[in-house]
Amino acid sequence: MFLQTQGITKDFGKLRAVNNVTLEIEKGDIHAIIGPNGAGKSTYFNLITGYHRATSGKVLFKGKEITTLPAYSRCKLGITRSFQITSIYPKLTVYESVLMGLLAHRKVTLKFFSSAKKFFKEEVWRILEDVGLSDQANTLGDSISHGDKKRLELAITLGTEPELLCLDEPTCGMSPEETDVAMGLIKKFSGERGLTILFTEHDMSVVFGIAKRISVLHQGTLIADGAPQEVRASEEVQKVYLGGTA
Ligand code: ADP
Ligand code: MG
Repeated sequence: MFLQTQGITKDFGKLRAVNNVTLEIEKGDIHAIIGPNGAGKSTYFNLITGYHRATSGKVLFKGKEITTLPAYSRCKLGITRSFQITSIYPKLTVYESVLMGLLAHRKVTLKFFSSAKKFFKEEVWRILEDVGLSDQANTLGDSISHGDKKRLELAITLGTEPELLCLDEPTCGMSPEETDVAMGLIKKFSGERGLTILFTEHDMSVVFGIAKRISVLHQGTLIADGAPQEVRASEEVQKVYLGGTA
């Protein structure tokens, strides 16, 4: 068992944002969480990555309970979130940004900085090549395009050696071409690096184009979970998405 939530619930005051969700995410899967606005998708992600603490229920990662661990401890275990452009260093080059991410994760202190820089050179280049940014290595972080910033964010994240990558609306604000590139990268990393991807997305063509498994949240409750074709056939899901009274 890779990642599991057991009856996880999150209350914000009187509002129950996530209601008793029991779900397994399998290793190597590309797993989408969908649902209308306000369904609790981001909150559910935050319960997994540790940015929110559950009101009740459990989160287990590779058999170990992590329910109360802070986000940085979960990151060390391999649970990472990405595609938040805000974390890019605007005054560093693309190469330096990836290097900084790597050094920070490996806890390299200033004392060993110059030798570590040489040591990690190959790894930085490998990551840049993987995400298709090697020709931008010497460009400053704030002068690259929006789509390339998304690639850089992913590159920085790969330096933290993730096992589970949580992407909350990764294609938000992207053009259709950038969306295609980002989805291609997600597929590639799930295939080549064996990464497990958990993502939310409002664009159903993206979801059905890439997800191997889909779970549907509605008002904080899990109403469907399964292969794309099963979820698509679910009456309850259709009601929710067609604006019915479910
Ligand atoms: P989604 O990502 O599916 O759109 P969210 O998880 O962001 O949904 O929100 C679920 C519900 O929880 C919404 O009603 C939202 O207003 C509420 N909510 C989310 N975060 C907070 C918070 N930090 N404090 C209070 N209410 C919140
Ligand atoms: Mg959200």
